[in-house]
Amino acid sequence: MLVASPAFPARAEVRAVRLSREGAGFAEGRLEAGVTVRADGLHAGRGGLYTSAAIAAPIAFSAIGPYWKGAPDVAVEVAVSPDGLAWGRWIPVPAEESIAPLREDGSPNPFGGDLLGPLVFVSPGSRWFRYRVRLPARRDGEPSLSRIAFHLIDPGRTADEDASQVEAHVESSLATSGPRRAVAPVPEEPSPVARADRPPILRRAAWGARPPKYAYSYTRAGHVGVHHTASVDDFTPTTRAECAARLRAIQAFHMDTNGWNDIGYAWVVCRHGEVFQGREDDDDATDVQGAHDGFNRGSTGLSLLGYFHPPYDQHPTQEQLSSLVDLIAWISGLRGIDPAGRSLYEAFGADVDNVYGHREVKDTSCPGDHLFALKELLRAAALEKLLIGAL
Ligand SMILES: [Zn+2]
Ligand SMILES: [Zn+2]
Repeated sequence: MLVASPAFPARAEVRAVRLSREGAGFAEGRLEAGVTVRADGLHAGRGGLYTSAAIAAPIAFSAIGPYWKGAPDVAVEVAVSPDGLAWGRWIPVPAEESIAPLREDGSPNPFGGDLLGPLVFVSPGSRWFRYRVRLPARRDGEPSLSRIAFHLIDPGRTADEDASQVEAHVESSLATSGPRRAVAPVPEEPSPVARADRPPILRRAAWGARPPKYAYSYTRAGHVGVHHTASVDDFTPTTRAECAARLRAIQAFHMDTNGWNDIGYAWVVCRHGEVFQGREDDDDATDVQGAHDGFNRGSTGLSLLGYFHPPYDQHPTQEQLSSLVDLIAWISGLRGIDPAGRSLYEAFGADVDNVYGHREVKDTSCPGDHLFALKELLRAAALEKLLIGAL
């Protein structure tokens, strides 16, 4: 019997380092009057500014994932340099949320409870960085900042990262890049009438995804969560290879800092409207359970690359929105979801719109004001696409 041999393009070599400062280690930086360093961190009774020394990273990097333990209103900024001499602007990294105390496998996360900033994409080849922290007044004797850490990521390059070859992976490869199943897939329910076509999707192998740490769990999506990646573009991607590198950096941050099994989202749409397969296998009959909204069972998570919220105020591109509608319509058709409807999201414990924004189930700004404002339009457009498909 002939078995199709799966194509495994050489995986990109993702390199990463974690640099942290805590306690008396802050002494190397510059303290504004009123800021003091003690054994438990930085103190600022009346508030003040701390600026780190310039730090040479042991690798070149193009993504920085910051997280820290301190007062809720510390304001952190980072800056990068190729050589330690010419520095870019200060980039604010507002805390998005905190890191969950447990990893996805239930083990304690050593970074659990830390405030989590956005992943910042900087010019590839950055080698130096520094950070500064505006410390709020704090009179309870606790440090304003006890620890700060940076996950510096070089997402590397895949061997086949020239556009023509990556193009060849769109919809043409039957390779299965997901892990073997340990949990039985949820059986498919009777097909709904309305269907929408599967949009072109760049498979995991095409963007050089790492395999998940352990076998996926499966669920059946009755809801579709919409997210933004809350990643900051200090360097704007123009090529597919640069967007693929972004996916690898997000995956590294999700797996190694958040402690997840894999990238959290099922699909990610870049600003050029290309859909990247995230935590999903190639079997349309099943839904891989993601790590996207804190509940995950009974839902799937779609994310647009960007930061559609202050202070960055990006807006989703037309291409992104159009691909998002295609994805929502396709998934809704597969699962018999009314994209404009509302129903019980059991894991969350209440009725939620079938296509919802992350902020509707969790205390987060995700998917950002500027994407969330389009939610009803997106729901209506997906429904329309499904209805037209049924004609
Ligand atoms: Zn989200
Ligand atoms: Zn792109």
